[in-house]
Amino acid sequence: MTLPPQEHLGPGDRIMVVVAHPDDAEFMCAGSVAKWTREGREAVYVIATNGNKGTPDREVDPAELAALREGEQRGACAVLGVSKVEFLRHEDGTLQNTLQLRREVARLIRVHRPSAVVTEDPTARFVGNRINHPDHRAVGDATVDAVFPSARDFHMWPELYYEEGLEPHVVDHLYVSGRGGEANVRIDVAATIELKIAALRAHASQVRNPTPEFDEFVRSMARRNAEGSPYEYAESFRYFHLGARPPSQNAPPPNTPIRA
Ligand SMILES: [Zn+2]
Repeated sequence: MTLPPQEHLGPGDRIMVVVAHPDDAEFMCAGSVAKWTREGREAVYVIATNGNKGTPDREVDPAELAALREGEQRGACAVLGVSKVEFLRHEDGTLQNTLQLRREVARLIRVHRPSAVVTEDPTARFVGNRINHPDHRAVGDATVDAVFPSARDFHMWPELYYEEGLEPHVVDHLYVSGRGGEANVRIDVAATIELKIAALRAHASQVRNPTPEFDEFVRSMARRNAEGSPYEYAESFRYFHLGARPPSQNAPPPNTPIRA
Protein backbone atom coordinates (compact mmCIF):
# COMPACT_ATOMS: atom_id res chain seq x y z
CA MET A 1 0.00 0.00 0.00
CA THR A 2 1.34 3.41 -0.97
CA LEU A 3 0.36 6.28 1.27
CA PRO A 4 0.72 9.87 0.14
CA PRO A 5 2.67 12.33 2.29
CA GLN A 6 0.35 14.79 3.98
CA GLU A 7 0.28 17.64 6.41
CA HIS A 8 -3.04 18.87 7.69
CA LEU A 9 -2.12 21.22 10.51
CA GLY A 10 -1.88 24.98 10.30
CA PRO A 11 0.75 26.97 12.19
CA GLY A 12 -1.39 27.74 15.25
CA ASP A 13 -3.02 24.36 15.69
CA ARG A 14 -2.82 22.79 19.15
CA ILE A 15 -2.42 19.02 19.50
CA MET A 16 -3.74 16.73 22.24
CA VAL A 17 -2.42 13.18 22.47
CA VAL A 18 -4.58 10.75 24.49
CA VAL A 19 -3.10 7.32 25.29
CA ALA A 20 -3.47 4.52 27.82
CA HIS A 21 0.00 4.16 29.30
CA PRO A 22 3.13 6.19 29.91
CA ASP A 23 5.32 5.38 26.83
CA ASP A 24 2.41 4.63 24.41
CA ALA A 25 2.64 8.09 22.86
CA GLU A 26 6.39 7.77 22.39
CA PHE A 27 6.03 4.54 20.42
CA MET A 28 3.04 5.83 18.44
CA CYS A 29 3.70 9.45 17.60
CA ALA A 30 6.72 11.01 19.34
CA GLY A 31 8.43 11.86 16.04
CA SER A 32 5.33 13.68 14.82
CA VAL A 33 4.83 15.44 18.15
CA ALA A 34 8.44 16.65 18.17
CA LYS A 35 8.05 17.85 14.59
CA TRP A 36 4.85 19.71 15.42
CA THR A 37 6.28 21.38 18.54
CA ARG A 38 9.49 22.32 16.73
CA GLU A 39 7.29 24.05 14.16
CA GLY A 40 5.87 26.15 17.01
CA ARG A 41 2.69 24.30 17.91
CA GLU A 42 1.58 23.52 21.44
CA ALA A 43 1.10 19.88 22.43
CA VAL A 44 -0.63 18.41 25.49
CA TYR A 45 -0.61 14.78 26.63
CA VAL A 46 -3.36 12.90 28.46
CA ILE A 47 -2.26 9.59 30.04
CA ALA A 48 -5.27 7.52 31.08
CA THR A 49 -3.72 4.88 33.37
CA ASN A 50 -1.01 4.99 35.99
CA GLY A 51 1.02 2.19 34.38
CA ASN A 52 1.44 0.52 37.77
CA LYS A 53 1.47 -3.03 36.38
CA GLY A 54 4.16 -2.45 33.78
CA THR A 55 6.78 -4.79 35.18
CA PRO A 56 7.35 -8.54 35.59
CA ASP A 57 9.26 -7.81 38.85
CA ARG A 58 7.16 -9.06 41.79
CA GLU A 59 9.17 -7.02 44.29
CA VAL A 60 8.20 -3.69 42.74
CA ASP A 61 5.64 -1.65 44.68
CA PRO A 62 2.91 -0.70 42.13
CA ALA A 63 2.44 2.73 43.73
CA GLU A 64 6.14 3.43 43.44
CA LEU A 65 6.14 2.23 39.84
CA ALA A 66 3.23 4.57 39.04
CA ALA A 67 5.12 7.54 40.50
CA LEU A 68 8.29 6.53 38.67
CA ARG A 69 6.44 6.27 35.38
CA GLU A 70 4.86 9.72 35.76
CA GLY A 71 8.37 11.10 36.18
CA GLU A 72 9.55 9.19 33.12
CA GLN A 73 6.61 10.53 31.10
CA ARG A 74 7.44 14.10 32.16
CA GLY A 75 11.03 13.49 31.09
CA ALA A 76 9.92 12.23 27.67
CA CYS A 77 7.63 15.25 27.29
CA ALA A 78 10.52 17.59 28.07
CA VAL A 79 12.51 15.97 25.25
CA LEU A 80 9.61 16.44 22.81
CA GLY A 81 8.58 19.97 23.79
CA VAL A 82 5.19 18.86 25.15
CA SER A 83 3.99 21.66 27.39
CA LYS A 84 1.63 19.80 29.72
CA VAL A 85 0.77 16.25 30.79
CA GLU A 86 -2.59 15.36 32.33
CA PHE A 87 -2.58 12.10 34.32
CA LEU A 88 -6.01 10.51 34.77
CA ARG A 89 -4.47 7.75 36.98
CA HIS A 90 -6.87 4.92 36.20
CA GLU A 91 -5.71 1.48 37.26
CA ASP A 92 -3.38 -0.07 34.69
CA GLY A 93 -4.78 -3.09 32.85
CA THR A 94 -8.44 -2.47 33.67
CA LEU A 95 -9.30 0.54 31.52
CA GLN A 96 -12.78 0.51 30.01
CA ASN A 97 -14.66 2.82 27.71
CA THR A 98 -16.99 4.07 30.42
CA LEU A 99 -19.00 7.28 30.33
CA GLN A 100 -16.77 8.50 33.15
CA LEU A 101 -13.62 8.07 31.05
CA ARG A 102 -15.31 9.65 28.04
CA ARG A 103 -16.37 12.59 30.20
CA GLU A 104 -12.84 13.03 31.57
CA VAL A 105 -11.41 13.15 28.04
CA ALA A 106 -14.19 15.40 26.74
CA ARG A 107 -13.65 17.76 29.68
CA LEU A 108 -9.93 18.02 28.87
CA ILE A 109 -10.75 18.64 25.22
CA ARG A 110 -12.95 21.53 26.38
CA VAL A 111 -10.19 22.77 28.70
CA HIS A 112 -7.30 22.63 26.20
CA ARG A 113 -9.34 23.13 22.98
CA PRO A 114 -7.04 21.24 20.61
CA SER A 115 -7.40 21.46 16.82
CA ALA A 116 -6.02 17.94 16.51
CA VAL A 117 -6.40 14.86 18.70
CA VAL A 118 -4.11 11.84 18.37
CA THR A 119 -5.11 8.55 19.96
CA GLU A 120 -4.85 4.76 19.83
CA ASP A 121 -6.86 2.59 17.44
CA PRO A 122 -10.03 1.30 19.12
CA THR A 123 -10.56 -1.19 16.28
CA ALA A 124 -7.14 -2.83 16.60
CA ARG A 125 -7.90 -6.16 18.28
CA PHE A 126 -4.69 -7.56 16.85
CA VAL A 127 -1.52 -5.79 15.69
CA GLY A 128 0.37 -7.99 13.27
CA ASN A 129 0.68 -11.34 15.03
CA ARG A 130 0.24 -9.83 18.50
CA ILE A 131 -2.83 -9.15 20.65
CA ASN A 132 -3.31 -5.44 21.23
CA HIS A 133 -3.48 -4.37 24.88
CA PRO A 134 -7.13 -3.89 25.94
CA ASP A 135 -6.29 -0.53 27.56
CA HIS A 136 -5.16 0.72 24.13
CA ARG A 137 -8.53 -0.11 22.61
CA ALA A 138 -10.44 1.34 25.56
CA VAL A 139 -8.66 4.68 25.48
CA GLY A 140 -9.12 4.88 21.71
CA ASP A 141 -12.84 4.19 22.06
CA ALA A 142 -13.34 6.74 24.83
CA THR A 143 -11.31 9.38 23.00
CA VAL A 144 -13.03 8.94 19.64
CA ASP A 145 -16.39 9.10 21.42
CA ALA A 146 -15.27 12.20 23.34
CA VAL A 147 -14.10 13.93 20.15
CA PHE A 148 -17.39 13.14 18.44
CA PRO A 149 -19.88 14.07 19.61
CA SER A 150 -19.42 14.55 23.36
CA ALA A 151 -16.94 17.44 23.46
CA ARG A 152 -18.96 19.21 20.79
CA ASP A 153 -22.46 18.95 22.24
CA PHE A 154 -23.51 21.44 24.90
CA HIS A 155 -26.15 19.15 26.36
CA MET A 156 -23.60 16.44 27.10
CA TRP A 157 -22.66 17.33 30.68
CA PRO A 158 -23.94 20.94 30.68
CA GLU A 159 -22.47 21.26 34.17
CA LEU A 160 -19.07 21.50 32.50
CA TYR A 161 -20.25 24.89 31.32
CA TYR A 162 -22.35 25.92 34.32
CA GLU A 163 -19.83 24.83 36.93
CA GLU A 164 -16.52 25.32 35.15
CA GLY A 165 -17.29 27.67 32.26
CA LEU A 166 -16.11 25.08 29.71
CA GLU A 167 -17.58 25.74 26.28
CA PRO A 168 -18.20 22.88 23.84
CA HIS A 169 -15.36 22.36 21.38
CA VAL A 170 -15.07 20.96 17.84
CA VAL A 171 -11.88 19.04 17.08
CA ASP A 172 -10.87 19.57 13.45
CA HIS A 173 -8.41 16.72 12.95
CA LEU A 174 -8.32 13.20 14.37
CA TYR A 175 -5.26 10.99 14.02
CA VAL A 176 -5.66 7.36 15.06
CA SER A 177 -2.65 5.09 15.42
CA GLY A 178 -1.87 3.38 12.12
CA ARG A 179 -0.73 0.16 13.77
CA GLY A 180 -4.11 -1.45 13.11
CA GLY A 181 -3.31 -1.46 9.40
CA GLU A 182 -5.79 1.19 8.24
CA ALA A 183 -3.33 4.07 7.92
CA ASN A 184 -4.00 6.68 5.25
CA VAL A 185 -1.42 9.35 6.08
CA ARG A 186 2.22 9.47 6.98
CA ILE A 187 4.17 12.14 8.79
CA ASP A 188 7.82 12.71 7.88
CA VAL A 189 9.85 12.24 11.09
CA ALA A 190 13.35 12.16 9.60
CA ALA A 191 14.28 15.35 11.47
CA THR A 192 12.95 14.09 14.80
CA ILE A 193 13.61 10.33 14.85
CA GLU A 194 16.53 10.79 17.27
CA LEU A 195 14.28 12.82 19.59
CA LYS A 196 11.78 9.97 19.47
CA ILE A 197 14.53 7.57 20.51
CA ALA A 198 15.64 9.90 23.32
CA ALA A 199 12.04 10.22 24.53
CA LEU A 200 11.61 6.43 24.51
CA ARG A 201 14.84 6.07 26.49
CA ALA A 202 13.34 8.41 29.11
CA HIS A 203 11.01 5.51 29.97
CA ALA A 204 13.85 3.68 31.70
CA SER A 205 11.57 1.30 33.63
CA GLN A 206 10.19 0.04 30.30
CA VAL A 207 13.20 0.37 27.99
CA ARG A 208 15.50 -1.54 30.31
CA ASN A 209 18.13 -2.24 27.73
CA PRO A 210 18.70 1.05 25.89
CA THR A 211 21.25 -0.40 23.51
CA PRO A 212 22.13 0.69 19.98
CA GLU A 213 20.02 -2.31 18.90
CA PHE A 214 16.96 -0.75 20.57
CA ASP A 215 17.64 2.54 18.77
CA GLU A 216 17.94 0.67 15.48
CA PHE A 217 14.67 -1.17 16.19
CA VAL A 218 12.91 2.21 16.53
CA ARG A 219 14.51 3.46 13.31
CA SER A 220 13.56 0.26 11.48
CA MET A 221 9.88 0.67 12.46
CA ALA A 222 9.95 4.25 11.16
CA ARG A 223 11.72 3.11 8.00
CA ARG A 224 9.02 0.51 7.42
CA ASN A 225 6.34 3.19 7.89
CA ALA A 226 8.10 5.30 5.25
CA GLU A 227 8.28 2.59 2.58
CA GLY A 228 6.91 3.85 -0.72
CA SER A 229 7.01 7.50 0.38
CA PRO A 230 9.67 10.14 -0.26
CA TYR A 231 10.62 9.94 3.44
CA GLU A 232 13.39 8.07 5.17
CA TYR A 233 11.44 7.78 8.45
CA ALA A 234 7.70 8.17 9.01
CA GLU A 235 4.87 7.60 11.47
CA SER A 236 1.55 6.48 10.03
CA PHE A 237 -1.99 7.28 11.10
CA ARG A 238 -5.58 6.88 10.08
CA TYR A 239 -6.68 10.48 9.59
CA PHE A 240 -10.17 12.00 9.80
CA HIS A 241 -11.01 15.60 8.95
CA LEU A 242 -13.87 16.55 11.25
CA GLY A 243 -13.99 20.32 11.57
CA ALA A 244 -15.53 23.07 9.51
CA ARG A 245 -12.25 24.48 8.28
CA PRO A 246 -10.82 22.97 5.08
CA PRO A 247 -7.64 20.96 5.48
CA SER A 248 -4.52 21.94 3.56
CA GLN A 249 -4.50 21.44 -0.18
CA ASN A 250 -2.72 18.11 0.05
CA ALA A 251 -5.30 16.63 2.38
CA PRO A 252 -8.03 14.17 1.42
CA PRO A 253 -11.70 15.17 1.38
CA PRO A 254 -13.37 14.85 4.78
CA ASN A 255 -13.45 11.30 6.12
CA THR A 256 -12.31 9.80 2.81
CA PRO A 257 -9.71 7.11 3.26
CA ILE A 258 -7.02 7.20 0.61
CA ARG A 259 -6.23 4.08 -1.33
CA ALA A 260 -3.30 4.24 -3.64
ZN1 LIG B 1 0.55 0.64 26.28
